[in-house]
Amino acid sequence: MAGALGESDPRRSVPRTDTLLADPRLKHAAATLGPQAVKLAVRSAQQQVRTGLAAPADAADLALALLATAPVTLRPVVNATGVVLHTNLGRAPLSAAAVEAMSRAAGYVDVEFDLEAGGRAGRGRTVKAALLAAVPAAEDVHIVNNGAAALVLAACALAGGREIVVSRGELVEIGDGFRIPDLLTAAGAVLREVGTTNRTHLRDYAEAIGPATGFILKIHPSNFRIEGFTSSVPVAELSGLGVPVVADIGSGLLGPHPLLPTEPDAGTWLSQGADVVTASCDKLLGGPQAGLILGSGERVAEMRRHPMARALRVGKTTLAALQATVGGHETPVEAALTADREVLRVRADAMSTALTSSGVQAETVASAGAVGGGSAPGVTLPGWAVRVPEQFAEPLRIGEPSIVGRVEHGFCLLDLRCVPAALDEQVCAAVLAAGRRAAGRPGRRPPELTAASCT
Ligand SMILES: *Cc1c(COP(=O)(O)O)cnc(C)c1O
Repeated sequence: MAGALGESDPRRSVPRTDTLLADPRLKHAAATLGPQAVKLAVRSAQQQVRTGLAAPADAADLALALLATAPVTLRPVVNATGVVLHTNLGRAPLSAAAVEAMSRAAGYVDVEFDLEAGGRAGRGRTVKAALLAAVPAAEDVHIVNNGAAALVLAACALAGGREIVVSRGELVEIGDGFRIPDLLTAAGAVLREVGTTNRTHLRDYAEAIGPATGFILKIHPSNFRIEGFTSSVPVAELSGLGVPVVADIGSGLLGPHPLLPTEPDAGTWLSQGADVVTASCDKLLGGPQAGLILGSGERVAEMRRHPMARALRVGKTTLAALQATVGGHETPVEAALTADREVLRVRADAMSTALTSSGVQAETVASAGAVGGGSAPGVTLPGWAVRVPEQFAEPLRIGEPSIVGRVEHGFCLLDLRCVPAALDEQVCAAVLAAGRRAAGRPGRRPPELTAASCT
């Protein structure tokens, strides 16, 4: 019969679309990514079976793998880098309470409405109250899009067309090529740089201050450290010079942190005389992307009233997540920072043992984590990692769940500091699956695998 499919013709056994779509994993994917993306992936998996590139039995797995690498949405990632605030991985992961709050705020909410009076009310007033309770030294607070926006608003509102006096040792590039000095001049201020890279004295500031001064800007050099012959002027001394002091703490600590004694915090710098403190919310504060402006009632009001404030304001879901973050639940950032070293070792050992018994070359090794996100440079967080061959790194990244480890000296380190313990089994299973995928690729040395056992 012309066109009949032979016994061995793969087209004979291309799985049907509805059969594949009924796979629970693909059903789940359709619910999260949308049915259109899943249908496309199923179609290309069927095509690969049709052309003999894949076995019929692998069609569903293949569709899932295609979905996993397709740029259809932001993909959740297991952060096994040991870097708590990883800017490329979205900085602070939100607490369950913050996620819940965001979801509750997603519909209609009383963000600018007084339910009792039935009229307009101050935007985000409950989160502001929570922040002021957490930082008693602040008279007022204003929330913007991020730390950079807080600086822009300060420059516009408090130094538009005038000078910002700033130390040459604090002119920071914050990442991806963005520099704080450029940000300030783009906002219409004139920079008056004082001192040198390594040393700036009180008299340098005093000599630069004049009628054109808008404010002195103190920036915490959060992502680098200059060692040796250095000197900078503390906020307490700057505040005696008779002009407003705006202080950028960067990392968003509201109060001192016992593990990070050199990180400045909003409460301390305000008490030392800063008129305004600016900060990020998705670094050490552990909240959503937002920026904080805390300080003198008069200055914060000037900033809030500036026309640019409207362009920098945050959405209702951000306000909700921020309130939940400030509300006192332990944030995932705090949990990762303070993770017990011994507990990390026990978890890493359990995983290494399970992997080794399944034939994966795995070992528990000491691993130096970091705070990251341009915070606490020089602070290392001693922990433990599961060390597997480097060839696991790529399949782990593109697998489901996606796991990002740290590639170091020819190995892939899976540092468990930022991995919730509840995910250990999934991570272990993913390493085994990654081993199988790596084994299936030509030109790669296959790790020897026997059986899968991660429970
Ligand atoms: C991170 C940082 C910023 C920028 O904050 P974003 O929230 O990323 O905009 C500004 N200043 C300092 C000192 C920082 O550490």
